[in-house]
Amino acid sequence: MSTINQSGWRPEMNAVEGGAGATFTGNRALMLEEALIFEIGALDTTGVDFEPCAPAKAGAQSGEDTAFGSGPLLSQGNRLAGLERHRDIGLPGLSEPEAVRHYTRLSRQNYGIDLGFFPLGSCTMKHNPRLNERMARLPGFADIHPLQPVDTVQGALEVIDQLAHWLVTLTGMKAVAMSPKAGAHGELCGILAIKAALEARGEDRRVVLVPESAHGTNPATAAFAGFTVEDIPATPDGRVDVDALTARLGPDVAGVMITNPNTCGLFERDLKTISDAVHAAGGYVYCDGANFNAIVGKVRPGDLGVDAMHINLHKTFSTPHGGGGPGSGPVVLSEALAPFAPLPFVEKQGDRLALIEEETADEHHGESFGRMVSFHGQMGMFTRALTYILSHGADGLKQVAEDAVLNANYVLRALEGVLDAPFAKSGPCMHEAIFSDRGLAEGFSTLDIAKGLIDEGFHPMTVYFPLVVHGAMLVEPTETESKATLDQFIGAFRAVAERAKAGDAALKSAPHFAPRRRLDETQAARKPVLVWKEPAQAQAAE
Ligand SMILES: *Cc1c(COP(=O)(O)O)cnc(C)c1O
Repeated sequence: MSTINQSGWRPEMNAVEGGAGATFTGNRALMLEEALIFEIGALDTTGVDFEPCAPAKAGAQSGEDTAFGSGPLLSQGNRLAGLERHRDIGLPGLSEPEAVRHYTRLSRQNYGIDLGFFPLGSCTMKHNPRLNERMARLPGFADIHPLQPVDTVQGALEVIDQLAHWLVTLTGMKAVAMSPKAGAHGELCGILAIKAALEARGEDRRVVLVPESAHGTNPATAAFAGFTVEDIPATPDGRVDVDALTARLGPDVAGVMITNPNTCGLFERDLKTISDAVHAAGGYVYCDGANFNAIVGKVRPGDLGVDAMHINLHKTFSTPHGGGGPGSGPVVLSEALAPFAPLPFVEKQGDRLALIEEETADEHHGESFGRMVSFHGQMGMFTRALTYILSHGADGLKQVAEDAVLNANYVLRALEGVLDAPFAKSGPCMHEAIFSDRGLAEGFSTLDIAKGLIDEGFHPMTVYFPLVVHGAMLVEPTETESKATLDQFIGAFRAVAERAKAGDAALKSAPHFAPRRRLDETQAARKPVLVWKEPAQAQAAE
């Protein structure tokens, strides 16, 4: 039996091989270890001292109908109709300082964009400007309720309307549906608009073409909406194979879903040619715009023939994401798809703004495919994104795209000598640089490099995506990182990659300095333990 320290942590769980570095407590200097709350709090104590409850009184007279049922059920002396708890509640009892420390220690083990570099490819983990946060916290935005009378929230509606205006302007599109709550939700919105447009035309087209390099959400969305997904191969230089795509077009094809810039970090130069061909064949073009950061202010997808595209406000427009906040995925729509946009939307009516909640027979929005969310979308994110757009201005947004691309190319050129960069010869990349695991020592993989980077103090890049590159490592630095940060990252990445090429055995068991060592990720995914059980119970279950 090992010793368990005050926080339930067993030192050997954190021991470094060879014994050096193990501490009695398992703590590492002032970075404290943390056990589960159930392991530090006792189930038979309570952290607060409430008076014992008096027995509940009957809530209603016998025989009287209430929301809880009629008379006989209430005869047990309270209004819980026999559902009252008789066993212990089984929650850990902790005092206030213990509870505060537990969550504060956990929060220190969390990694976020406010702590350091977060080069997760395809995720655009840029800095979230504090000005955005200040605006979103203004009481006029933060303290309103979506069911308030429209006359009392004209300012909030104006934020939605102004943001809609700038999104439509930046993309060169006709309209925008603001309510989708994430990129994938936006994809669903766009695909449902395409479906509604086809239905209005009385056509039954069942196939959606998706390039191999697509984000996993694209085929998932098309399948979810009832379409059959067919893959379109990529060319050796990492772009959509235009000939293969046009050859597949026909009366059964509803449309294509293309990511631009694509997930190999390359601009799809032939998108206009593709759009023209798709339109000529009677289909629609969905563009996955999650990577808009690389082209914002420089390219208007509407000019490339796109019919629908989601914009991840939580990527390009700097609203927090991941653990930091909800996403928001407005969808811009072409003239052809605009009439089918989901409800609700904001509309100018004279000098006031109205919220159109229901279909009207109106020629502009009589054909809405319905509603996707209860209310109007992510109001806090709208406020942050509009703040970001207005504080950058047209020139600032253009510079965002230019600096994001510059930073990615800096990383690409700095690392192409040490790692295989499959598309480096295709020319400059866009916002992200991609590497493969070719050339690593026998038995060493992309995962080892990712784990080694954790020891170096960097959140790893995206790994094993996109699937078209073997052992892919996708690095997206974004424009908000300084040259000094990138240089430090590049140095660490080089050092770790060299170790993987030289076959340094210690790398196989990295991370060595993280709160947890290398986890069995397969086991964690296949047999996740999501509920804490008392040790005796857990043993009995095994
Ligand atoms: C992030 C991303 C998505 C999905 O966006 P969510 O907001 O996570 O649903 C879709 N496609 C691409 C290319 C992305 O990078």
